[in-house]
Amino acid sequence: MAVRGQRPKFYKTGAIPIHGMKVHYVAGVAYDSNVYLLEDEDPVLVDTGTGMYADTALEEVSNIVPLKRIGRIVLTHSHYDHMGGAKAFQEATGAKLYLHEAEAKPLMAGDTSLTVSDMFGQRFKGIEVEPLRTGQRLKLGKTELQVLHMPGHSPGSVALYDPVGASAIVGDTVFCNGGVGRWDLPGGDLAELRSSVNRLRELGLKNLYPGHGSYAEGDAKMHLDMAAGYIAEAY
Ligand SMILES: [Zn+2]
Ligand SMILES: [Zn+2]
Repeated sequence: MAVRGQRPKFYKTGAIPIHGMKVHYVAGVAYDSNVYLLEDEDPVLVDTGTGMYADTALEEVSNIVPLKRIGRIVLTHSHYDHMGGAKAFQEATGAKLYLHEAEAKPLMAGDTSLTVSDMFGQRFKGIEVEPLRTGQRLKLGKTELQVLHMPGHSPGSVALYDPVGASAIVGDTVFCNGGVGRWDLPGGDLAELRSSVNRLRELGLKNLYPGHGSYAEGDAKMHLDMAAGYIAEAY
């Protein structure tokens, strides 16, 4: 732990003392998803909430990096609680939006069922996104993320995986303390969700950043094991 006014001796001046990516957490309010800012040369935002609290989320983000430096916003999936704020976030940053190709077309067409916008009582016109492919890499600077396809909660859910830091941003596939995403929404599938949770377990993650609630740093394995135990029993 660094002491104020005193540089830790084992870092060279100017060196960045980070293993893996630097993640900032903006907790979701009410139904809003969490927003994550991945800080690096090319910072990336992940998820945008419903948009109801976009101003406060963007203000928090702007305290860390200037908004105009953010060139990419990745949606972990297209549910309204993650994507409703996309327009406001785009306007504030000028960033491009990215979403897995399995959900890109329906989102652009304004599908209110797959995006569960209808559940939120929102009409939604569709929004332009760049499709993400399974296995695609996103370079942020020192950090390079892999796009892992994690269907089950929704057909195009992804995890953004940082192998160096053993970290993943996982959307609604899995939550802390043994929670998993719903599989009963349009395009959801229990068997796929089970397989996605198990694939996350096999990564040997230390840090887990879910789309709602708290995150886990250091003890991701415990949370993933709990989730796998829970979903093994689910039907
Ligand atoms: Zn969600
Ligand atoms: Zn969701």
